[in-house]
Amino acid sequence: MTPTSEPFGQTALVLFSGGQDSTACLAWALDRYARVETLGFDYGQRHAVELEARLTVRDRIVEGFPAWSAKLGDDHLIDIRSFGALAASALTEERAIAMTERGLPSTFVPGRNLAFFVYGAALADRRGADALVGGMCETDYSGYPDCRRETLDALQQALRLGMERPFEIVTPLMRLTKAETWALAYALGGDRLVDITVQDTHTCYRGERGEPRAWGYGCGACPACELRARGWEAWRRSPADAPGTGLTGEL
Ligand code: ZN
Repeated sequence: MTPTSEPFGQTALVLFSGGQDSTACLAWALDRYARVETLGFDYGQRHAVELEARLTVRDRIVEGFPAWSAKLGDDHLIDIRSFGALAASALTEERAIAMTERGLPSTFVPGRNLAFFVYGAALADRRGADALVGGMCETDYSGYPDCRRETLDALQQALRLGMERPFEIVTPLMRLTKAETWALAYALGGDRLVDITVQDTHTCYRGERGEPRAWGYGCGACPACELRARGWEAWRRSPADAPGTGLTGEL
């Protein structure tokens, strides 16, 4: 497919991992932009389940949301395994997930989000996209210094200068709690998008699918599963944002 010819600011490239957060970002972008493409990275993740989830979620969005389907363009997967090898951590090696002496979880890959956006901007330039959308969030979990908006503001400026294109790094989840991310999915796509998020997105650091739970699949014990489960429970308790009936995996 050829790059878009949409006017400035109408095409977005979404960093899309197949997780809950990037799925909410994809829906948010499909709701807002005229054209949306997705980008994933193979950086040597231990778990192929994450890469499979990307395609499943895209397929289910195409099936379930005709208006969004018309806007959804190509998917791109970039191999950055050399970066993963450089930044060896618990995500890319068989090591236990623990807190390091720097106060960061051992799942932290230094500079990973910076690398994602540099690759993303190079691709976006070729694809005629100006908005780079990512699911970074500093509300629930601020241990990752490259998730901070301050970091991304600096990177946005570097990309604008370095590539001479007015890129915008857009982070719709930056100030949201995990409960609010569930609420956002519901607001954008109702029970259907919540169901896709529960059934098909993958967040677990350990790459486990495990038993089905109300909030989806995963080991239930790693930090990512705990955040996801806590967010789900908080959202379900919140009367303002809670869904009606017919939700798969209802508590
Ligand atoms: Zn887990």
